Amino acid sequence: SLTLLLLLSSFQIFAQPKPKQTALELKVNALMAKMTLEEKVGQMAQITLDVIGNGKDRFSSDEPFTLDEQAMQKALVQYKLGSVLNASNNRARTPQHWLEVITKIQKVAMSNKNAIPVIYGIDAIHGETYTAGATMFPQQIGQAATFNRELVYKGAEITAYETRASSIPWAFSPLLDLGADPRFPRQWESFGEDPYLITELGKQMVYGFQGKDNNIANPTKVAASIKHFLGYQVPVSGKDRTPAIISDQALREYHLPPFKAAIEAGARTIMINSGLINGVPVHANYKILTKLLKEELGFKGLVVTDWGDIENLHKRDRVAKDNKEAVMMAINAGIDMSMVAYQYEPFCDDLIALVKEGKVKQSRIDDAVRRILTVKYELDLFNNPTTDIKDYPKFGSVEFEQASQQAATESITLLKNNDNVLPLKKSTKILVTGPNANSMRTLNGAWTYSWQGEKVEDFAAKYNTILEALENKIGKQNVTYLPGVSYKMDGKYYEEYADQLEETIAAAKNADVVVLCLGENSYTETPGNLSDLYLSDLQTELAQKLAATGKTIILVLNEGRPRIISKFEQKMAAIVQTYLPGNFGGNALADILYGDVNPSGKLPYTYPQFPNALFTYYHKPSESRETTEGIYNYNADYNPQYVFGHGLSYTTFNYSDIKLSTSTLKKGQTLTISVNVSNTGKVTGKESVLLFITDLVASDISPDVKRLKGFDKIELKAGETKTITFKITPDDIAFVNSELKKITEPGEFEILLGNKKIKFNYTL
Ligand code: BGC
Repeated sequence: SLTLLLLLSSFQIFAQPKPKQTALELKVNALMAKMTLEEKVGQMAQITLDVIGNGKDRFSSDEPFTLDEQAMQKALVQYKLGSVLNASNNRARTPQHWLEVITKIQKVAMSNKNAIPVIYGIDAIHGETYTAGATMFPQQIGQAATFNRELVYKGAEITAYETRASSIPWAFSPLLDLGADPRFPRQWESFGEDPYLITELGKQMVYGFQGKDNNIANPTKVAASIKHFLGYQVPVSGKDRTPAIISDQALREYHLPPFKAAIEAGARTIMINSGLINGVPVHANYKILTKLLKEELGFKGLVVTDWGDIENLHKRDRVAKDNKEAVMMAINAGIDMSMVAYQYEPFCDDLIALVKEGKVKQSRIDDAVRRILTVKYELDLFNNPTTDIKDYPKFGSVEFEQASQQAATESITLLKNNDNVLPLKKSTKILVTGPNANSMRTLNGAWTYSWQGEKVEDFAAKYNTILEALENKIGKQNVTYLPGVSYKMDGKYYEEYADQLEETIAAAKNADVVVLCLGENSYTETPGNLSDLYLSDLQTELAQKLAATGKTIILVLNEGRPRIISKFEQKMAAIVQTYLPGNFGGNALADILYGDVNPSGKLPYTYPQFPNALFTYYHKPSESRETTEGIYNYNADYNPQYVFGHGLSYTTFNYSDIKLSTSTLKKGQTLTISVNVSNTGKVTGKESVLLFITDLVASDISPDVKRLKGFDKIELKAGETKTITFKITPDDIAFVNSELKKITEPGEFEILLGNKKIKFNYTL
């Protein structure tokens, strides 16, 4: 009877209908059936363009780029590599140049028996970084400050168009890391500190890149690569690629939701965190890459490493004794493609040997290659391995530039405006000064025509610095310019020197108002590490000396992270944060300073007042004076310079009549919250309405003091009132408990809208 049972059950297996393969799966499987192991492994490697060119290295050479035939034969024919990234010599090129280069690469790659095109990937971070004439947008931190989903969508849509116009179908963007640490050198690449804001804007960027219909065969779309999975931006030291300690609870509560949402929105590819979490390199973490990402989140796309990170398991992190072991660990953990960068031979040779030795299963290779080929087919690269710039008439158009300026305009955040000193009158005589006053490099930040933004000035003539925009606005006769402090052009990004400092102070005495432009020079990644969050000594000195003249000072901040200004903040009459607003940031700022546009940006992070007091707004009650007052004063001093969501306007807004559809939300139901927002001032203005909710008591995990759960940006004419509604489900007020379960607990919750509060209950 046992035999019968076995027979029956095996019959059942055979009898079970196989799920029907889609046309795409059929194509991928048919191709895979023809591929050798060597070809499959080749698909899993990505090299930087310089490897197949005459470029001396990634960073320095200015030589015109040409492809090296021999190097191409070896990489693309002998090793059959599947992917190329980045720009030759770290320099932006024309779209025509891209077309020529990628046409040649594809021709060689597709001369192989199976004719598989290369997938070309690039860091299109705030616009197509490496294409001359592409439209550069505000960096993500500025886009977050707009709190405007539509603008973020539009920016990504234009970036996709211009990237594809350059024959490149894959963007290493958006960055969905939690920008919760202002010390980190890439905070500006993030949407700031709040998980909900990142989630909402991240989805818009994925839609903008890939299309709302998710059809990336459309030749104006690209495959997005969400990054850097997971927990990249919060290392203990605040420095790039150093260890982070993050509990599983915190990973799921704060870091995971933006990635989960972007995957649900259809993101095709994902890049992995270069660092360690709790001591384990993420590139070797099976639990994160396979269990969490591929199984729990059901991610079906392509998992790519960050720069050289398999080699790093051996050479940097020392969890592997040699390259071969590093390859084994990473591929078995769930990596599909290795951004090898330079030396691809060891990766390919070792991986082939590992499969032959049975240390990496053939099924793991097939899974990886299936994911890679699927994206290539979805992008229609087999039929259209390149695109022609001639078919992209809108590339670099005025329409696109206006979208960039609009984003810059809505990002700029008015932090302080004593006695309504702003807007200025056009007849005012101004002194414009500071190292950021006359620089396109500082307005753009890194990933602009080059990696660190160091080549920006090559393209600067077409655009206005802050100084040029102000001169255009009020006429040169009303503007005096002296730098006071300058960045060294040939030094490290943070090196500065006093540049006519005393003359600058003297000139201030003859001006009505000083426009003081301070901040940072461009930087990213490890070179952007910092050991002191205070704004530099020299810039502080300039600010102090200018303040001592008694003149009215408008401080313009142009910085990638909130550098601490508490030593002189009180002496500034007005403060305007521009973040890294891109090529049209100067124009946008001039419009705002002179009242042609009303500012509407809000801070997407907490602006700290002291280096030892770095908090996010969603800290715990024990970190907040407010909630401990009257009990114990722990003196934890959550006392930032400016709170998350802070941003002034030239008009005033009033919130009233908060209404709830029910005072008791029940399981499975939705709570509708409405509020009337009125413009009670004299000019038209835009307002981002932020909805915060506090869980008053939570068992297990101490609840955050409040969390953002909704936002909407509206425009109101003077005297106008609009009703805004938000919908909240029990899931929106859930939290991850210490058992790592997402739960919503019955109890009392408090809503905060503007300065108005109202409570509701949740019951099962
Ligand atoms: C960065 C990534 C980037 C990659 C490719 C890495 O160093 O961390 O964000 O996409 O380089 O340039």
